[in-house]
Amino acid sequence: MAEFILDTERVRTTVDNYKRVKSQVEEAAIRANRQVSDVRLMCVTKTVEPQYINPVLDLGADLIGENRVQEYLGKKDALHLDGVERHLIGHLQTNKVRQIVGEVDMIESVDSFRLANEISKQSQKIGTATNVLVEVNVGKEESKSGIYIEELEDLLYSISQLDGVSVKGLMTIPPICDEKEVRKYFERLHRAFVDIKDKRIDNISMELLSMGMSGDYEAAVLEGSNIVRVGSAIFGARKYF
Ligand SMILES: *Cc1c(COP(=O)(O)O)cnc(C)c1O
Repeated sequence: MAEFILDTERVRTTVDNYKRVKSQVEEAAIRANRQVSDVRLMCVTKTVEPQYINPVLDLGADLIGENRVQEYLGKKDALHLDGVERHLIGHLQTNKVRQIVGEVDMIESVDSFRLANEISKQSQKIGTATNVLVEVNVGKEESKSGIYIEELEDLLYSISQLDGVSVKGLMTIPPICDEKEVRKYFERLHRAFVDIKDKRIDNISMELLSMGMSGDYEAAVLEGSNIVRVGSAIFGARKYF
């Protein structure tokens, strides 16, 4: 059996990274004339082993994001999850919904009525409703999931009929581009978020705007994000397995 070796240098770097990112998010909030408590930092833990996640959770990180159902279910028991909120942020196939409902606090990647309907069905089976965000493809990129801004309102009206899901806001992954360009995408989604909030659709609340990753979280905070999802800037470059 392979011996378990903890890379203490990597633990130290991870903890330092977390503290730095946390304070940069706070500084961005202040620069944007917002409350520090208004912006949450999500630690994106996909591909990271529990021994490098737990030191950050022990420091008080209270929100994690995972991409894959199987990976999350396989490692959750090894994580220090007391008081930690868990979000699924990766593309979700309808045939995996049954396994993840009840295991996470939010699914951020709802991009079709079909998926929302399945989440609703499986949630009602276990006597709950699942909090979700609707994923928007702000750059209309073929390679990305998410719906277009133009389709958002219709989708929200349909989802609002479902008893087993509760929409809490929007999520996006913008195209890879420079800071000026990315701020335009964030601004566009923020505007849609505010417009929909003003419509006061039954059973749809617009509280959470999840945007910003390692390369652009400061820009996202300046444009109104209240959840930034940061992976590699905390845990280092990902090694996919
Ligand atoms: C991987 C991932 C992130 C984090 O990406 P980094 O660039 O490593 O910070 C954020 N959101 C989603 C949906 C992801 O899949």
